[in-house]
Amino acid sequence: MFGMGPGETAIVLVLIVVLFVIFGPKQLPKLGKMFGKSMKSVRTGLDEMNAELKTEDASKPAAADEVVLPASPSNADAPLTCAKCGATAAPGTKFCPECGDALSAPDMPLTCAKCGTVAAPGTKFCPECGAAL
Ligand SMILES: [Zn+2]
Ligand SMILES: [Zn+2]
Repeated sequence: MFGMGPGETAIVLVLIVVLFVIFGPKQLPKLGKMFGKSMKSVRTGLDEMNAELKTEDASKPAAADEVVLPASPSNADAPLTCAKCGATAAPGTKFCPECGDALSAPDMPLTCAKCGTVAAPGTKFCPECGAAL
């Protein structure tokens, strides 16, 4: 029942019996309505979540020939090298610990590893072949 285990279903049944005892048969229809309402809202929430997940899936460009590139380290995880003095800084560092020069890689034009097309900074996918940049 709604993804609950047998134990939880039993608890719900016990709860219903307890409610029956507490409120009596007259109030039960009301409780049933309340219960139905809350279940409906849970359902609606789940549907909305599913819809969101589907939208996210759809927004991913379907690269026809999606080649799994050898795990190229993302910019965030790769150690940064200062273009000015050559010092190596920890990933995520904004400024060179040696000379204080900005280590901003995101503003550099991106080159597609697959087809060599140069894309604008911030571009996620190659405009030519659709490969992830
Ligand atoms: Zn430096
Ligand atoms: Zn490309």
